[in-house]
Amino acid sequence: MTCPYLDYRDADGEQEFDHDRPYCQIQESFVSPMEADLCNDRHDFDHEADCAVFQRHHLDADQLVPGLELQDAD
Ligand code: SF4
Repeated sequence: MTCPYLDYRDADGEQEFDHDRPYCQIQESFVSPMEADLCNDRHDFDHEADCAVFQRHHLDADQLVPGLELQDAD
């Protein structure tokens, strides 16, 4: 499964490219073709398990869940 935050864009502001480039919507920046292998879960990569950006984003989201009692973990 492809990461839901992966996008492909053919321009960066005013600069247009001759082909679409992989773009991470969390980092708000383009990623390298090698990183895009991870984003696309190619070569046994798993974006949920292997991408620190994805993991950090969801950790932050969990901490912002209303009513979540982090002290109750014990
Ligand atoms: S860098 Fe990580 S969070 Fe961003 S699109 Fe790729 S897998 Fe998803």
